[in-house]
Amino acid sequence: MIQYIETFLLDVPTIRPHKLSVATMNTQTLVLVRVRCADGVTGWGEATTIGGLAYGEESPDSIKANIDTHIAPLLIGMDAAQPAKAMAKVRKAIQGNRFAKCALETALLDAHARRLGVPLSDLLGGRVRDTLPVAWTLASGDTAKDIAEAEHMLEIRRHRIFKLKIGLRSVDADVAHVLAIKRALGDRASVRVDVNQAWSEAQAVRGIAQLEAGGVDLVEQPVKAHHTAMLGRLARRFDVAIMADEALHGPVDALALARADAADVYAVKIAQSGGLFAALEVAAVARLAGIGLYGGTMLEGGIGTAATAHVCATFADLEWDTELFGPLLLTEEVLREPLVYRDFELQVPTGPGLGVDIDTDKLRSLQRK
Ligand SMILES: [Mg+2]
Repeated sequence: MIQYIETFLLDVPTIRPHKLSVATMNTQTLVLVRVRCADGVTGWGEATTIGGLAYGEESPDSIKANIDTHIAPLLIGMDAAQPAKAMAKVRKAIQGNRFAKCALETALLDAHARRLGVPLSDLLGGRVRDTLPVAWTLASGDTAKDIAEAEHMLEIRRHRIFKLKIGLRSVDADVAHVLAIKRALGDRASVRVDVNQAWSEAQAVRGIAQLEAGGVDLVEQPVKAHHTAMLGRLARRFDVAIMADEALHGPVDALALARADAADVYAVKIAQSGGLFAALEVAAVARLAGIGLYGGTMLEGGIGTAATAHVCATFADLEWDTELFGPLLLTEEVLREPLVYRDFELQVPTGPGLGVDIDTDKLRSLQRK
C-alpha cells in the first residue's frame, strides 16, 4: 500500500554559469519525490525542470505544490504493487502536470522494481544495452573557454559529443562561435547545436546553411515549438539532422510531428513526455515513422538521470546518443554512489529499482528550508 508521499526542493549550484537562449543558470533546483510503501519499500522520482518558468509551464514550486496538494492524496492507500493502476487514476483526475506525473511514476516503478529485486529497466521490457554515449553541453558562451573545456573532456575520455547552446546572440556571431569550435575539434568530436526556439525561419535558413557547410551534425529546435510546418520545411531543406525537443510534449505531439514529417530526430525526455511509459510511446512513434532517437535531459540530478538511462537502455536503436550529463553539471552529489561515466559512456545502473540511492544527509543539507 502507498503510505506516504513527500516532495523535496534542493537548490544546488552549477559548476559554471549554464547559458541557454531562455535563461542563464547558476543554480539548479532539483525536485525529488519519495514514495513510502506499507511493506517498507521506498521509491524515488525526480521532476526537475530548467530556469523556473523560462523553459516550461511547470516550475519547481508548482510541481511541489501540485503533488502535495492535489496528486499525492489520490494515491495514498492504493496498491503499491500496481503502478499502472495508480498512474491511470492520476491521469484521469489531473490535467497536464507532466513533470509531476513523471516523478510519481518513476518513484512507483523504482519501489516496485526494488520489491521484485530487478532493475527498473526490466519493468520496461528489459535492456538491450548497458552503457549510453553521453554528449556534453558547452554553454559558457566564451569560444576559447568552450574549446578548452571540450579538449579536457576528450582527454579524460568523458565526452566526444558536444552540444552548443546558441540563439542568444546574432546568427552570425553564433555561427562563428560554433564553427571555431568545430574547426578546433575536427573529426575527434561530433558538434551539435541547440537553438532553444530562438530563430525565425529566415534566421534558421541562414544559420543552418552555414552550420551544415561547417560540419555540424545536428540542429536542435531551431524555431518555436508550435511552428510544426516551419520545422518540417527546414528538415526537408537541409541534409543536416533537425531535432524536435520543446515541440515534443509526449506521445500525441510525437504522432502529430511524425504525420507532418517535421523532424529527423526526437529528443526523448521522460518528464516532457509525462512519464517513463509515455517516453517509450514517443520512441515507438519515432521508430515506426523512421525518426532517429536521442535521450534528452532536463538537467536532472542522479534520480531523473538514472530513470532516463533505464528507458534509453531499452531502445534497440539510439542513433543520436544521449545528453545524460545532468549530475556532472552540479557541484553537489545527492546519490550515495554517483553514476559512473567511463570511456565516453554512462553505465546504466544494474541494482534493483533505479539502482541508485539518495544520500539522506546530503538531502537534508541541500533541502530548501
Ligand atoms: Mg533542447
